[in-house]
Amino acid sequence: MRLNCPLCGPRDRREFYCKGAALPRPAPDGDAAEWDAYVFLRENPAGETRELWYHSGGCGSWLVVTRNTVSHDVIDVAFADAEPGGGAGT
Ligand SMILES: [Zn+2]
Repeated sequence: MRLNCPLCGPRDRREFYCKGAALPRPAPDGDAAEWDAYVFLRENPAGETRELWYHSGGCGSWLVVTRNTVSHDVIDVAFADAEPGGGAGT
């Protein structure tokens, strides 16, 4: 699989580290159930998913990768800080 980093261009996925699902971060004063779900609850969808990836072997950018877990098609790669809610947890 190759990911098209917005800064570096197409690169082998071994240059990247997958951090997991890209979830919208709750508000700092969000309730405990909301934070519990953000930290611990994960789904394992078959189909389109959004994940947080780090370009560790390249520019060091945090990226949100939208891909299909069944067909392995990469649909979109965007900077995490351009996503609603940040995505990178910053
Ligand atoms: Zn890069």
